[in-house]
Parts: sequence; structure tokens; C-alpha cells
Amino acid sequence: MAQKGKGSHSNEDCCSFCGAKRSDVALMFQGMGGVNICNNCVERGYQMLVESEMVDGARKKKGAGKFTMEELMKPAQIKAVLDQYVIGQDDAKRYMSVAVYNHYKRILSRQKHQADDAVEIDKSNIVLVGATGTGKTLMARTIARVLNVPFTIVDATVLTEAGYVGEDVESILSRLLQVADYNVEAAERGIVFIDEIDKIARKGDNPSITRDVSGEGVQQALLKILEGTTVNVPPQGGRKHPDQKFIQVNTKDILFICGGAFDGIEKKIAQRLNTRAIGYGQQSGSQVDRQNLMKYIMPQDLKSFGLIPELVGRLPVLTYMQPLSREALRSILTEPKNAIVKQYEQLFAMDDVALRFEDEVLDYVVEKADEYKLGARGLRSICEAIMIDAMYDIPTSGDKEFVVTLDYAKKKIEGANFFELKQVS
Ligand code: ADP
Repeated sequence: MAQKGKGSHSNEDCCSFCGAKRSDVALMFQGMGGVNICNNCVERGYQMLVESEMVDGARKKKGAGKFTMEELMKPAQIKAVLDQYVIGQDDAKRYMSVAVYNHYKRILSRQKHQADDAVEIDKSNIVLVGATGTGKTLMARTIARVLNVPFTIVDATVLTEAGYVGEDVESILSRLLQVADYNVEAAERGIVFIDEIDKIARKGDNPSITRDVSGEGVQQALLKILEGTTVNVPPQGGRKHPDQKFIQVNTKDILFICGGAFDGIEKKIAQRLNTRAIGYGQQSGSQVDRQNLMKYIMPQDLKSFGLIPELVGRLPVLTYMQPLSREALRSILTEPKNAIVKQYEQLFAMDDVALRFEDEVLDYVVEKADEYKLGARGLRSICEAIMIDAMYDIPTSGDKEFVVTLDYAKKKIEGANFFELKQVS
């Protein structure tokens, strides 16, 4: 039972828990009814909470990657969160939500049926096909955020077959471990986004006349990791070294999402559709939406593009991203939770300045992004060119309001070197 907070021999306050005097401790907190607690007891109490996993941070770290069927977000819930961040791309969102849901269900099912011979659910690695700047990375990043799992992005073009100049395929896992704070269990349930997967397509149809260490070789090296295997990962990344200690990471529960622009794949799709139309007479030319051939993409198109069949087989969920229309670009400026316009408003608000963009300015930004074929990626650089002077001057100007007018925006853009802008993106 806690004692009253006065020392028995003096009037000095004491900790009601350990009895320490106020003069002997760094801090004494006073409670109601004359009880006190010293900083040492607070710390001890906190430690006990951490050990019993009742503190959020501790629970996250210890139980990272563990979840139950009830906690698992349903596809519609996952999509609803994606909707907050990603504009359009409805098909891709639905595919991704289902694939992710199934992926984590698969993990639960295996945990539950470890001993028995229940149906084993296949892995649902995903491939996202779509032009650059249509939101592939954003989609993968948002999924990882929704699920609160470690997430990393790797560029397939820097990977080479083991032993050659470039990064070994294992380096993907070093990065995942790093973002998971070396919590192997969490990393093993993380998500890896492999960007530019189309750039490791086989060059030409003839397999291996000369060794293709950055193309087919990397595809081969990726196979095992995508499917699920135990990999010795050098913790700090980089080359494997004989004296180095490795961390073993099993990839069977890691979800791989591959993204690529697959420039020119529409031609392969068209060829296939034409052949089918002639061969079976089912798909007449007029039924095919020629403006949007991407929506007919099938695994065999990835093969025709130069991905080896084994790799295509390990990426069973295939979906596509649509090119962004002007309306979509306009929405990207203002609608997502962290829309560019909202970000500028917040930056200005921190200096107590109310920022407002005239509607015509936003239309103008979209027009320029479209004109210079910069897509969504360009929106940011165009806004930056418009806002840079204001961001420099406003914090010291004493102004409480700043309105970006069309005239102002035009002046700034015409003053900026657009050729440089194009280079940036
Ligand atoms: P990709 O991976 O397809 O090349 P990103 O996901 O990197 O494209 O997109 C680049 C930027 O453009 C993102 O950071 C985001 O701000 C914006 N963006 C692209 N597509 C969308 C979209 N559909 N919805 C919202 N923002 C988008």
C-alpha cells in the first residue's frame, strides 16, 4: 500500500512508492491527496509496461507482423484507404486489395494448419503494368502503410546475377531488414516493390547467345526469392564477404509487387488480339477498345515482351495502370490525403500564412504537365517552380495571406527554364 507522501522525520515530500525524498531524486510528481511519485518509480513502472507489452511501441516491435483474421482488413476496406491516396486506377486497386488480402490469409492459413495437410494457398505476387508516373509506386507504398508492414523499393536495373558488378538479388532483403529495424519476423511479412521489372526483359528472342547478366540472369536469380526460400542476407547490404555474419530470411511470406512501364507492350497485345480474332473469329476488331489496349493484358504478353515464363508464373496477379487523364491530374493536385496543394497550404500555415490557389492556376498546372508530357510526376515540379519565390519571401514578409493568381503562376513558369524541368522529371 502506498504511503502518504511526507517523510516521517521531516516535512519534506517523499515518493509514496519507494520512500525517496524529494531532494534525493531528479523529479517528484504530485498526485491528489498528498501522494507523490518520483521519476525513478515512473521509469520502473514504464519498464514493467514495456515488458508486459502494454505500451504501443513495444507491442508493435515485439508482435510486428503478427495478426489475426479479425484484424485483417477486408478488400473493400483496403481499397477505401487506397482511394484516399491514389486517384483513379479502380481496376488495379481492386486486384491489389484482393491479392493482398489473400496473401495475408495464406499466411494465417499456414499458421493454423501447420501440422495437417490442409489446402495450401499459392502466393499472390503482383505485377503492375503502366506508364511511368501513373501511381504504381504510390499504390505499393500505400498498401504497405495500410498494413503497417515493412516496405522497400528496389530498382531491378541495378540488380545483377551474383558475382557480377552491380547488386546481388539478396540486397533486396538487406534493405527490407534495415527498414524492419532488423526484426526478422517483421521483415518476413513485409512488402518489396521491384520497380522497372520490364528493364530486365530478355534482349531478343534467342535465349542466351551471350550471357545476359543483367537481364535473363537476374530473372533467374529472382525466381527463388519470389517463390519462397531461405536466403543468407548480409545485414549491411553490399557484397557477400567470407567473414561476414549473415541473417537468415525466409521469403515465403514476403509479398513482391513488381512494376514496369513495358513500353510498346500494347503492340504485343494488339498482335495477340488480332491473331485471336482471325483464328477463332470471336473477338471482332470493333469490340476491342483500341485506345486502351492495356486492359486486355495477359501473362503471355509479358512473355512476348521478354520475361521468362518461370518468372511470369511466379507473378500470378497481373493488373494495369491507366494513363492519367487531365481530370485525374487535376484531382491529384487537390484530392488525395496528402495532395500537393494541401502540402503547400500546410507549409504556409506553419508561418501563419493562409495560402490559396485560384482555380485557374490549377488548370494551368495540369495543362503544362500535359503539354510537356510530364504526367503526375511533373505536377510537383511545376508547382515548385511557381511557389519557390513565395516560399523564400513569405516567412519574412509579415504577410498573413498569399493568393496564387493565374498571372503570378504564368510569370513564374515563363521565367523558369522548362527544359530543366523536363530533365528533373
Ligand atoms: P510510377 O511508380 O507509376 O512511376 P509514382 O507512383 O512514383 O509512379 O508516381 C509519381 C508521383 O505522382 C507520386 O508521388 C504521386 O504524387 C503522383 N501520382 C501518380 N499517380 C497518381 C495517382 N493515381 N493518384 C495520386 N497521385 C498520383
